[in-house]
Amino acid sequence: MEIKRGIAVSPGVVPGPALVLGTEDFRIPRRFVSVDAVEIELTRFRTALDSVCGEIAENERLASERLGAQYGAIFTAHLNLARDPKLRDEIEVLIREKTYAPEFASSRVLRRYAKFIQNLGDHYMAERAVDIFDLEKRLLRHLLGEQREELSHITEPVLVLAHNLTPSETASLDPDYVLGFATEVGGHTSHTAILAGALEIPAVVGIGPFLSDVSGGETIIIDGNHGEVIIDPDESTLKRYHDTQVRIKTANEKLEQLGRLESKTADGVSIKLYGNIEFPEEVDHCIQRGAEGVGLYRTEFLYLKDDREPSEEDHFDAYRRVVDPIPDLPVVIRTLDLGAEKFPHSLEELAEVSPNPVLGLRSVRFTLRNLGLFKTQLRAILRAATYGDIRVMFPLVSSMLELRQAKMILSDVMEDLEEEGIPFRRDIQVGMMVEVPSAALLADRFAPEVDFFSIGTNDLIQYTLAVDRANPTVADLYNCADPSILKLIRMVVAAARKHDTPVVVCGQMSGDPTYTAALIGMGIRELSATPFSLPVIKQVVRELTIPQAEEIAAHTECLDVARDVENYLRGELKKILPEILD
Ligand code: PEP
Ligand code: MG
Repeated sequence: MEIKRGIAVSPGVVPGPALVLGTEDFRIPRRFVSVDAVEIELTRFRTALDSVCGEIAENERLASERLGAQYGAIFTAHLNLARDPKLRDEIEVLIREKTYAPEFASSRVLRRYAKFIQNLGDHYMAERAVDIFDLEKRLLRHLLGEQREELSHITEPVLVLAHNLTPSETASLDPDYVLGFATEVGGHTSHTAILAGALEIPAVVGIGPFLSDVSGGETIIIDGNHGEVIIDPDESTLKRYHDTQVRIKTANEKLEQLGRLESKTADGVSIKLYGNIEFPEEVDHCIQRGAEGVGLYRTEFLYLKDDREPSEEDHFDAYRRVVDPIPDLPVVIRTLDLGAEKFPHSLEELAEVSPNPVLGLRSVRFTLRNLGLFKTQLRAILRAATYGDIRVMFPLVSSMLELRQAKMILSDVMEDLEEEGIPFRRDIQVGMMVEVPSAALLADRFAPEVDFFSIGTNDLIQYTLAVDRANPTVADLYNCADPSILKLIRMVVAAARKHDTPVVVCGQMSGDPTYTAALIGMGIRELSATPFSLPVIKQVVRELTIPQAEEIAAHTECLDVARDVENYLRGELKKILPEILD
């Protein structure tokens, strides 16, 4: 049994068979064979290995003939490896004595070899591990045929392990079969992490290199509460995790009962709780968790889930699917926040090649330079807004000019719809995200120009602290509790108050109960978060009084170090809700 540690980004624990992506996405279907089938399976393995040897020998011949003996020698090394009797014996022993399926046995043995070589610490030798992975890939291809795993076509429950999952890949995971995932890279609020929350599956990211330690089909546990992946757990660990699963399920059922209760502090102040969504289906999660609307709909996932660019009707249908079940509740539709790692295949020709895309042409900057795309979306939003309380919000606004330009385009689109005689909502509320320090610093100037603010702490932290939100190497420097972040939030609240502009917090911070008291104490009265986190936030709200929250917020102002703020807030949370940290 081995334990790998990473960053916990989506809670829950789940045991299951590993699907390791990266071995050209081969799926190892079975771990064991029946005792009667052992001889047949041994023959299948020998045939596959002989075919692999024949294939490599052919490559060796061709390379030697066409390029020279020194190139042929590359394959000679591979061939020696594939013909190594010790290797063959080890795999056969696992098939014969442990009744492992040949695919599983080959992967186990070859990965053990590769890991040993990687751990020698010698750069040259570590590179040789690649040859062993190559042999694994060839063997699997012969054993399994050309059958590859399409992420969107998984038909049995698995836990996905990958170096990285792009937001598009994550969006295509089917939560009925993908019970959890873990990746080598990724940070606290990377979009892949946010999507895991949307899919409501346990996830751990930023583990660092570990894929060579796992074979497909092997039993693992993903612990999204503590940020751990347990490989090949022993019986007692498996039992302990099964018990934890049952406890979490019971606790969640209890929490969900809160859905029906009011979101009011103990002294009667209403705190509005909304859901953040990426897909229209999630509106059901919001309703189940008692959300009072959708505070953030990240519409770019409409592009990321499909290979085709969505039409105005596709946008319109998606927005109707969100608003129709909750026509009386607010739905904040954020215009496309494309760019950086969120770039769809369908728009590849518009993608910017930049060494630093997070500071490049993303989000509202991108839509302002691609007006066709922007107008298509705005038309659909304005039309859908006649069916309920839809509001529009611009992301990543970093200057007044940008906001005014975006609003001007919105007016142009209204004129077009008017001329065409198409019904739309003229008095739609227009808001902006405050997620760039420049917008927070100038909040008092922005406030009179918008109907609401939404503080996006995920990006605000990234840009204020100069820490890439998706980079695990600097994940320890990424912290919502940093006094600079709290100070910016206070500034935005003060500016919004002066102009009577409502302000919501919608980054991941708003779904973390550690920060609920401090945010309310700073004057925040509206929070929008991943639906699954809403019940626990409501539980904190209902235990708090405003003076208590204000005292907690005031105390944070005396602390200079993020870790001290975080520890202090955790301590206060434990007093408010003693059972929570268990
Ligand atoms: C944010 O930046 O806090 C936010 C809510 O937007 P996103 O996570 O989609 O960048
Ligand atoms: Mg953002």
